[in-house]
Amino acid sequence: MSDEPTLRPETLAAQALGWIDVATGAVAPPIHPSTTYVRDGDGGSGARRGYTRDENPTYDQAEALLAALEGGAECLLFSSGMAAAAAVFQTLAPGDHVVAPSIGYHGVRAWLKTHGAHWGLAVDFVPTGDVEALAQAVRPGRTKLVWAETPGNPTWEVTDIAAAAEIAHAAGARLAVDSTAATPVLTRPIAHGADIVMHSATKYLNGHADVLAGVLVTARDDEPWRRVRALRHDGGAVLGPFEAWLLLRGMRTLFLRVRACSRSAQTLAEHFERHPKVSRVLYPGLAGHPGHEVAARQMDGGFGGMLSLRVAGGAPAAIEVCGRTKVFKRATSLGGVESLIEHRASIEGPDSAVPDDLLRLSVGIEDASDLIADLERALAA
Ligand SMILES: *Cc1c(COP(=O)(O)O)cnc(C)c1O
Repeated sequence: MSDEPTLRPETLAAQALGWIDVATGAVAPPIHPSTTYVRDGDGGSGARRGYTRDENPTYDQAEALLAALEGGAECLLFSSGMAAAAAVFQTLAPGDHVVAPSIGYHGVRAWLKTHGAHWGLAVDFVPTGDVEALAQAVRPGRTKLVWAETPGNPTWEVTDIAAAAEIAHAAGARLAVDSTAATPVLTRPIAHGADIVMHSATKYLNGHADVLAGVLVTARDDEPWRRVRALRHDGGAVLGPFEAWLLLRGMRTLFLRVRACSRSAQTLAEHFERHPKVSRVLYPGLAGHPGHEVAARQMDGGFGGMLSLRVAGGAPAAIEVCGRTKVFKRATSLGGVESLIEHRASIEGPDSAVPDDLLRLSVGIEDASDLIADLERALAA
C-alpha cells in the first residue's frame, strides 16, 4: 500500500501536484523554450523527447494537474479553447450527427454552422437544459456527439450532465461538456458521465486575462481520444511553453478565485433580483432560475462567477447602463480577477439569439460592495 497521502483538489492545485524540479530542487517549475531535444548516438531519441510539437515538457505539469482535478485519464492543452473544441469536432466523419446547445458560447455555434457544415456534419441546435428536447434531438446510431455547455452563455442555462450522458450513450453518442464557466472547482463532468471535458483556459483556469489556452480532458484513453491526440500532434494547435507556465501559475489560486467570484456573484444576483430597473437576473444560484435544482445537485460549493441582468427599458437602456459602469470594465471574455460587463447582443451580431436587453457580467474578486455600488450608480442615472 502506498504511504502517499490522499490530497484534496485544493491542495493539488495550490502545490501544482507538489512536483519539484529534479535537476535543481526548484518549487516553481522551469520553462522549456527548446524546440528540439538531442538524439542518441544511433539517431533515436530513446526515452527522451523529439520535437516540441507536441512534446514540450512545460505542458506536463499543467496537463497532469488538470487530469487530476477533473478525475480524467488524460489531459491535452491546446492553443485556445476553440482549438480544443474544434479538435473534438474534427474527430467526427462526414454525415455524423451532432447535437449542440441553441444558446451557448457563440464561437462554438459559429464553428459548427460554418466549418462543421463544410466538413459534412449534420448539426441540430437544441436547448440542452431541456432533457425532453435533448432526448428528441438525438438520432440513435447517427448522432455521434452531444455537446453541452453548463452553465451556458449567457443565460446560464444548466444542463443535467448525468441525464445528457444517459441520452447520448443510449443513442451511441459521446457527451462532451464545455465546463469553462463551472471549472473543476464547482463541477466535475466526468463523475456525472461525460466522456470529454473542454475548457477555455483563457478564462478561470488561468484567471488573469493574459493567456489564450484550451483544455480537453478525457474520461478514458479510447479510439476517439487517440484521434484527438493525433490531431493536436499533426495539426500543431499546441500551447507555447511560456503560456503553459503562466497557466499553471494561475491554477495554483484557482480554488480561491473561483470561490470568491461565486460568493460575490451570488451576492450581486440576490441584490439585483428585486431591483426596479432590472426585469430579470439570470443566475443558477437563484431559486427562481430554471436550472437551479439541477445546479444545486451538480455544482459543489457555489454557482459560478457569471450572471446576466436583463435591464428594464430594453436594448437602449441596457447599452446606456453598460456605458456608465466604472468599476466593471466593458470588455469581452470572462473569468479574470477583474469584473467585466458586456452587452452580448451587440457583440454577437444580427444572428444572435441573446435577448437584446441582456448584460453579461463576469464577477471578479474585487469587494462585492464596490461592484454593487457601481451597478446601482449605472442603473440610477
Ligand atoms: C471563451 C470561451 C470559449 C472559446 O475559448 P478561447 O480560449 O477564446 O478560444 C469556448 N467556450 C466558452 C464557454 C468560452 O467562454
